[in-house]
Amino acid sequence: MRKNVIDDKKVVRYESFGGIVGLNNPPTLVFVDREFMKEMGYESSELWQQQRNYLSAPTEVHFNITNACPMSCRHCTSDSGSRSSGDLSNEDIKKAIDVLSEMKVFHIAFGGGELFERTDAIDIAEYASSKGIVPNATTNGYYITTPLAEKCKVFGQINISIDGIGSKYGVIRGVDSFEYADRAAKLLVEAGVNTGINCMVTNANFDDLEEVVAYAADIGMKEVLFLRLKPSGRAKAIYDKYKLTQEQNKLFYRSLMRMARKYKINLQVDCSFIPHICYHNPPEKVMKLLGIEGCEGGNVLLGVRHDGLINACSHYPSYYENIHKLPHMWNEHEHFKQFRERHITDETCIKCNYFKLCRGGCPLFSEFITGDFNAPDPECPIIRQRQL
Ligand code: SF4
Ligand code: SF4
Repeated sequence: MRKNVIDDKKVVRYESFGGIVGLNNPPTLVFVDREFMKEMGYESSELWQQQRNYLSAPTEVHFNITNACPMSCRHCTSDSGSRSSGDLSNEDIKKAIDVLSEMKVFHIAFGGGELFERTDAIDIAEYASSKGIVPNATTNGYYITTPLAEKCKVFGQINISIDGIGSKYGVIRGVDSFEYADRAAKLLVEAGVNTGINCMVTNANFDDLEEVVAYAADIGMKEVLFLRLKPSGRAKAIYDKYKLTQEQNKLFYRSLMRMARKYKINLQVDCSFIPHICYHNPPEKVMKLLGIEGCEGGNVLLGVRHDGLINACSHYPSYYENIHKLPHMWNEHEHFKQFRERHITDETCIKCNYFKLCRGGCPLFSEFITGDFNAPDPECPIIRQRQL
């Protein structure tokens, strides 16, 4: 393992605990200690003199390069739709990528809106790649054709938004475009692009999640990423109607495990699902398999809006300074500190076995439902059980 890491490294970044190594194949990140860094030939860094509880820069940036989208789904968390005049120019996006490259960001997940509304989306991805950053993307698939699918090989991975198969595709989004998503999925897989699905989980598709996994496995996709419906963007208006019931909150983990055993495909959940997983006391190995790390906003993650403003998590409703101020803002801005130093005082949470990792779940739900960023996630099955 040590030899593989040393031979295969692409980008290496110092951190207070040692460093992070970006590997080529598979494109993954390895967190290593100071001794390991020295073994790879990296001398001491001033970061090694510091005690800090956050990374020197995000590892992954969610960069919405346009707010335009041909679909205008009702569960869109970025409120995208009609063509926006505030999108960054190609030149400004490249300058933003330069900032991220100087900070040694490893991955950029490009999205929108629909990123292929921009005819320069491939050019932007190629630029990121030339700067040593792995470009990934999320698309609704609407514009994918055979020639575009070929060009998409520049992306490390593309995930297509699909919440249901066939006629169930539009149940939550209110737009019936399965034929485009299906065509895109098959064209991308055929072109050899690592392809996955982003599936929003709601009470309306909860019983049909297996169909989505079976579809992905059947056509040769690599991954299904389950996203929690967030009270953000247009989805705020439908949150109450489509949020999971307490019964579904509790059942989600079992359903995931059953699908993971049945299908040979990578199943992941987004960071906001952590309380739903912790409720079942899973072993550390399972947490790793599902990619569960707790709230990553303002540490692992950074959100960039289509107009260049940034925040700690792309689902958070407020955005702050322009991305060019990121190097200063990352260490100094109260918004990032608020995410990193979330002040949970709730006794149930503090005594929970998973508190160190979960830290009260997703603050978006706390703020939206209770008005208090520091309250525990009210949809956590443990917290909800207490309230019943
Ligand atoms: S606020 Fe934190 S837990 Fe919630 S979605 Fe954003 S990064 Fe994930
Ligand atoms: S009780 Fe708190 S720490 Fe435990 S799982 Fe729920 S939100 Fe997370």
